[in-house]
Amino acid sequence: MKKQHSLLNRILIIICTAIFVLGVIITSVGSRMIYTVTENSIKTEIQSAAETMKNLYEHELGVNADSFEMSAEDFTRIIGYIGCSNDVDFTIFNGDTRVFTSIINPDGSSAVGTKASEEVIEKVIGGGKEYFYSRVMVNGQVYIGYYIPLFSRDKTVSGMYFAGKPLDSAKANSAAAMRTFILISVAVLIISTGICFFYLKNIINGMLDIKQYITKVANGDFAASMSSNTVSRCDEIGDIGRNAEMLCGNLRDMVERDPLTSLFNRRSCRRKIQELDEKNISYALVMGDIDFFKNINDKYGHSCGDAVLKSISAILSKHTAQNGGWASRWGGEEFLFVYPQKDIAQVKSLLDEVADEIRSATYGDGNECFNVTMTFGAACHAPDENLDETICRADELLYIGKQSGRNRIEI
Ligand code: GH3
Ligand code: MG
Ligand code: MG
Repeated sequence: MKKQHSLLNRILIIICTAIFVLGVIITSVGSRMIYTVTENSIKTEIQSAAETMKNLYEHELGVNADSFEMSAEDFTRIIGYIGCSNDVDFTIFNGDTRVFTSIINPDGSSAVGTKASEEVIEKVIGGGKEYFYSRVMVNGQVYIGYYIPLFSRDKTVSGMYFAGKPLDSAKANSAAAMRTFILISVAVLIISTGICFFYLKNIINGMLDIKQYITKVANGDFAASMSSNTVSRCDEIGDIGRNAEMLCGNLRDMVERDPLTSLFNRRSCRRKIQELDEKNISYALVMGDIDFFKNINDKYGHSCGDAVLKSISAILSKHTAQNGGWASRWGGEEFLFVYPQKDIAQVKSLLDEVADEIRSATYGDGNECFNVTMTFGAACHAPDENLDETICRADELLYIGKQSGRNRIEI
């Protein structure tokens, strides 16, 4: 036999996998976007810083910008004016050599005298164009950098301006934003998982309820019921639940009821009496038989006989239900009915009533009207006897009633 799987577990696996994949996609795409935004804002910052430095420097030295005759203090003063984040480094190159710079060597000394990388020399000095690098080697360290060529009076490139930020520092800037983004994403994913799980659990609970109900009915427990939450749902689960109840109700009627009269059949009647026995509830049994029923069939036809059976069954059913009991069709025109918790005097009085009602009902085939009588044998169940013995006593009393002329109640 195939292994049984839990629907809830399967759905949980599907949700968790989907949310995990979604989480990975959101985190990687989001991180990439955050880094790009950070990089762009750094680009704007260092480009504007490099341009400001160029303007201040050229203002300081005028037409002699290519002489680089400025003190280190003047350079420090210039970059002090620029006013941007303190992790931005500045350099002025004479040709490919740093003559003024805020970059510090690993040993703590100024990087003045060190050279630009080959790539920068080729692109900026060789090409004479401003250049942005998202990754460039600056004195042995990776930077995000912006270079502007420094032109001499004869319009040749005699140096460069540089503003840049160490990549590690840029990453640290975006890491803080990324941390917040990831925290919010994880919180949103957890909340959405919880909401999905809540709604799915609600759906699955409905399905499990229907499953349990159908299993009980399949095992013959027609008294089983579903939770009112399930049958009152306004969705497909509610529809399935209501249809299952209807189906089980029809099945129960087919199994428990006589198709012609809709009374309980012999088997379900016995089961119901046994339930009274199990609960130690006292009861009286009445065996009733229609008098001369064969004559009715013979004289008015079988379908008229069926109509009489149905009518008498309806009277018996209503009467017994009103008195806390029930009626069953025991055989052809024979009925066994049950009065729980009634003594024999009460039963006698109730039978007088029902016998009168049956006698006063009128039937006909369209031409002729007739009445029907019944004979009854009633016995109270004694604690020391079994069900069949009580039925047998009621049956014997019925027989006596028949022998004594019919249309009688024998107790
Ligand atoms: P008694 O007073 O002694 O009970 O006489 P009776 O004619 O009622 O009894 P008998 O046993 O001789 O006949 C019962 C008849 O009931 C015979 C049978 O054809 C008829 N019968 C049994 N089941 C049905 C049914 O479902 N429909 C109809 N129309 N007749 C039925
Ligand atoms: Mg009869
Ligand atoms: Mg009979």
